[in-house]
Amino acid sequence: MTDSARPPRLRFAPSPTGYLHVGGARTALFNWLYARHNGGKFLLRIEDTDKLRSTDESTRAIFEGMEWLGLDWDEDVVYQGASLERHRADAMRMLDAGLAYRCFCTPEELEVRRKTAAAGHETFKYDRRCDRLLPDEVQERLDRSDAFVVRFRIPEGTTEWDDLVHERIAFPNKDLDDFVILRSNATPIYNLAVVSDDIAMGVTVVMRGDDHISNTPKQILLYRALGAELPTFAHLPMIHGMDGKKLSKRHGATAVGDYQHQGLLPTAMLNFLALLGWSPGGDREVMTVPEMIELFTPAGLQKKAAIFDPKKLEWMNGQHLSITPLAELEPYVTPAILAAGLADEATLAARREWYFDLLDLLRVRSRTIDDIVRQAGPYFLPHIDFDPEAVARNWKDPEAAADLLAKVSQTLASVDPWEPGPLETVLRGLAESLGIAAGKVFQPLRVALTGLTVSPGIFEVLVAMGRDLALARISDATDWLRRAADSK
Ligand code: GLU
Repeated sequence: MTDSARPPRLRFAPSPTGYLHVGGARTALFNWLYARHNGGKFLLRIEDTDKLRSTDESTRAIFEGMEWLGLDWDEDVVYQGASLERHRADAMRMLDAGLAYRCFCTPEELEVRRKTAAAGHETFKYDRRCDRLLPDEVQERLDRSDAFVVRFRIPEGTTEWDDLVHERIAFPNKDLDDFVILRSNATPIYNLAVVSDDIAMGVTVVMRGDDHISNTPKQILLYRALGAELPTFAHLPMIHGMDGKKLSKRHGATAVGDYQHQGLLPTAMLNFLALLGWSPGGDREVMTVPEMIELFTPAGLQKKAAIFDPKKLEWMNGQHLSITPLAELEPYVTPAILAAGLADEATLAARREWYFDLLDLLRVRSRTIDDIVRQAGPYFLPHIDFDPEAVARNWKDPEAAADLLAKVSQTLASVDPWEPGPLETVLRGLAESLGIAAGKVFQPLRVALTGLTVSPGIFEVLVAMGRDLALARISDATDWLRRAADSK
């Protein structure tokens, strides 16, 4: 089998120093989609070498966010901090091969040189003085137990690669500094740990944010120095807020967990994230997870920064509320219905078929689970409030509205069967006999039944509510209107 025919191995490598950011989730998703599309493996590596900033709580938040989104990983989670020995050994290997050297310059000395460079408006670059130490001098310092770091010697030339997003990227090596790979306490620097781990994990495609582009030439040089095959690199565009600035808390919730707790559907979140820097082509936007997997190819990756539009996320959620099979949707909605005190579990279980029909009716006009719950109230509660705006608009004259609703009630009392067709016939008949437009009957009735101006079709509302509740609701509304008329 040739290399390109081998199933790809990708990884998501978050640093557990906060919550799972939507940008991180987007990177995880693209890696996951690439792996799943190509029958490869998706691995998870927790980059916890920064002991001061890494927390278990953050690692848990990453797991939780990924699990909520359904981004399952293959193989055991890799903890970067567990491989310090290998990182050290890799640094030593480069040192022994003469590709790296010990640097005894102290942080204070370097700081002075950095300041001098800054004062002269020059970019500081290590001047390689320790690379010129003779073997005896090095030995002498080691015998004195002088502290040292290990620096990688940047070779001459240019470092380039074909990025899956940006195509050819080239860095002249003269712009790169002989960077430290091992600190004086023998811990690896970020770029070494990443390369050492990616080699050990057999990663073949490195897909990450394009804020890492400047690390890539250094990493490529390390791959070569370690005699390893290069992975393919893909640098994903940054995510910006609506104002074009890098996405931050100023723009609203940036933690995946926040969206989970707002009752967003994970598939909607995935679909929304998928479009942050990728497009399946054409105008296509709404996709199920299997569709995203099928359509995901690097050709659709974009260079320009992606815009995080919260309104679009809400819209996307509405789309997924509609396309998700009811049996899958129900577990997301029911807890909210229960929490709102609309019903108890036993009631919902006893009226399961009716409940599913109701969800099917309400989801079409909803963007959030809260929207469904808000609209669901009238189908469960014995009494409802009438939205003042709906009242002002559709019950302008309380006396007349009460009279009309009384007639509607009489008409509905005998409809049989209680189904959309017969309901429509009698209500239209009533409007005609009163010499008014059908809407003049439907709108006041809608307010009586739901308290709202907008609802599903009036016949569907009547069916979902059932005759008894509908008539009770109309009677409530008539009483309310009579009281309103009296108090005028
Ligand atoms: N730990 C790095 C980060 O969170 C990821 C590095 C990489 O993907 O190579 O940005």
